[in-house]
Amino acid sequence: RGSLLLSVQVISYGDGKKLLLSRDVTQVERTEAMRRDFVANVSHEIKTPLTVIAGFVESLRGLDFSAEERERILGLMQEQSDRMRHLVEDLLTLAHLEGDPHQPAEERLNMRQMVDRLVADARALSGGRHHIEASADGGDLRGARTELVSAFTNLVSNAVRYTPAGGDVRIAWRVTEQDYGDPVAEFSVSDSGIGIAAEHIPRLTERFYRVDRGRSRESGGTGLGLAIVKHVLLRHQAELRISSQPGLGSTFSVRFPVQRLVLPKAPAAPDAP
Ligand code: ADP
Repeated sequence: RGSLLLSVQVISYGDGKKLLLSRDVTQVERTEAMRRDFVANVSHEIKTPLTVIAGFVESLRGLDFSAEERERILGLMQEQSDRMRHLVEDLLTLAHLEGDPHQPAEERLNMRQMVDRLVADARALSGGRHHIEASADGGDLRGARTELVSAFTNLVSNAVRYTPAGGDVRIAWRVTEQDYGDPVAEFSVSDSGIGIAAEHIPRLTERFYRVDRGRSRESGGTGLGLAIVKHVLLRHQAELRISSQPGLGSTFSVRFPVQRLVLPKAPAAPDAP
């Protein structure tokens, strides 16, 4: 950080003249360091559940357990393998998004239906422990359905997972007509949960960045959700804003460019005389 890395090459000619070539490899080195970090993180994330599973296999072999105890251990083993499956799924999604040079598909998503579906998902995940509310204006969104569903679902699942029982989660799709200029299209998820201290906010979309590793794990997080959100939104020229107050809650809002909005047709104006 703040330093420059140069690769230097000296070419000597027969007549004793020398040519010095220097190249700035700061960025190359930085990318390489990020790749190493990523591989180390992935390995660690896979190794942890594997170690737990291996431990359980050993203990199941060694001792005589009651039927109930066996069931409990098998349940814990299943939890760990589910975690690994989620991790691999998220890694594949991310690799696919990062490696895809194509523009996202231009499907039309009915946002009222989308919000209904997200509410149903949120209720299932919450198991009745949260108040879940939603509102949706009209208007369709143009983009890749699976990508956008995955981004929105990640935001909604975070809101539920980082909000203690009894809290609120609010999902909204708003299209605001401006007096002048283009309408503004915004999808947002607000919660009354644990919130995020300001210093963490700029780093949240980094792969495997978590404010509280234990809490993320406990609630089934992979640490990749917001990295996926970031990539999907980037591909759709949309902007993510995060505002939060520790202890009070957070709002994640996504603003889409007007070209991605399809407004319901206004009633035809009467013909001018
Ligand atoms: P994870 O799988 O850990 O939830 P994400 O990439 O989805 O990974 O989120 C990164 C981190 O951002 C989380 O570990 C958590 O610390 C924080 N975070 C995300 N959403 C919220 C939220 N709604 N409230 C509080 N913290 C959040």
